[in-house]
Amino acid sequence: MKVMKFGGTSVGKPERMHHIAGLVSQEKEPVIVVLSALSGTTNALVEIGDFIAKGDRQGAKQVIDKLEAHYRAFVQELVKKEESLAKANAIIAEHFEFLNIILRISFSEALSKDILAQGELLSTKLFCTYLEEQGKPHLLLPALEFMSIDAYDEPHVETIAAKLKPILGQHPEIPLFVTQGYICRNARGEVDNLKRGGSDYSASLIAAAITASVCEIWTDIDGMHNNDPRVVKKTMPVERMSFEEAAELAYFGAKILHPASIWPAQSFKVPVKLLNTMQPEAKGTLIAEEAGSVGVKAVAAKDNIIAIRIKSSRMLLAYGFLRKIFEVFEKYRTPIDMITTSEVAVSLTIDSDAHLDEILRELEPFGSVETDKNQVIISVVGNEISRTEDIIKKLFGSIVNIPVRMVSYGGSPHNISLLIAAEHKKQMLQQLNKGMFGLD
Ligand code: ASP
Ligand code: MG
Repeated sequence: MKVMKFGGTSVGKPERMHHIAGLVSQEKEPVIVVLSALSGTTNALVEIGDFIAKGDRQGAKQVIDKLEAHYRAFVQELVKKEESLAKANAIIAEHFEFLNIILRISFSEALSKDILAQGELLSTKLFCTYLEEQGKPHLLLPALEFMSIDAYDEPHVETIAAKLKPILGQHPEIPLFVTQGYICRNARGEVDNLKRGGSDYSASLIAAAITASVCEIWTDIDGMHNNDPRVVKKTMPVERMSFEEAAELAYFGAKILHPASIWPAQSFKVPVKLLNTMQPEAKGTLIAEEAGSVGVKAVAAKDNIIAIRIKSSRMLLAYGFLRKIFEVFEKYRTPIDMITTSEVAVSLTIDSDAHLDEILRELEPFGSVETDKNQVIISVVGNEISRTEDIIKKLFGSIVNIPVRMVSYGGSPHNISLLIAAEHKKQMLQQLNKGMFGLD
């Protein structure tokens, strides 16, 4: 059995939905299709929730009506038969009635999650209506019946498998299952979600739970590229990489894959393929245990980084100093990305300023504290790069006229990270594209 996940743009237009219906029904083995909401929908649902939270019901109503009109037009093109259209319109009516009822209820966090769930519920039901019209045998699997998170918002593959496997076992004849990405139930049994972009995570969790033959993530580019195509002109897809490399890239800026979606597939040894809906025959990127080759594969940039330097002569020959510093970040639940040390100073980076003021106040007694905002982490990712000859020479040789604030090397054998000011990001990615990959 395999898992095929399609993102918002892959289902965002009626003809795209037709296209993926064709793709998923060509498969020889049974498939679980995981769908995102139509592109733009989750953003609109976030807006509706925000309006309701502010008490601006009129604002919310306007967004609801606009969204409903979008779906009404969408289904006109999606299905042809009268009865399918009636069915599709009934689905839309049901979900928009729900949104309109919510307008009259007082706002709560749980309610906002209910609002956010409507996108995936709609996309999967409408897709199934189309499959039915086409006479393609399939079954809708409600994700809320098997996808769950614990009290710390963490999903567990075993818990999901315990619920999902018996459901699948009841339908051995079905070749095609369709389910919602992103949505789940929380420890209180309420509707919740796996955070923005979480459909990839759903797909990976499902693939792990059933130890699928492969977890295919279908988007609108042909795999993970060696550099950011929005910043540099020439990029190329990376054919193969290891889970470790993919995790570094996903975390450090490659937008194609949700960073959390690596671990479930990796833990259960399910290969992940990144494929392009618009170009299904393109190779894409295979993410598997073995990296395939040694050396640098890609660079990525992570924006909005804050660098903090703590300098103190008391650090000289002292022990326990770093622990005390780290405890401050732990107290404010703020993850640290990069760290470099000298004998009398430590520099580290964070990507959230939510508790910056409190953190800085508590760091003050340790020494002088300097902060640089608007920094970017440039991550150079590859397999065993620390064993690749001349890598440092080549890397530093590529960088011309760009001040580098921090360098982190050796933490993992797959990554070298550089911290620079945001104003140099474009130049840096271009220079690395030329120096490391020979691309202009
Ligand atoms: N629809 C959700 C979002 O836009 C989940 C996803 O698409 O992955 O964040
Ligand atoms: Mg996505």
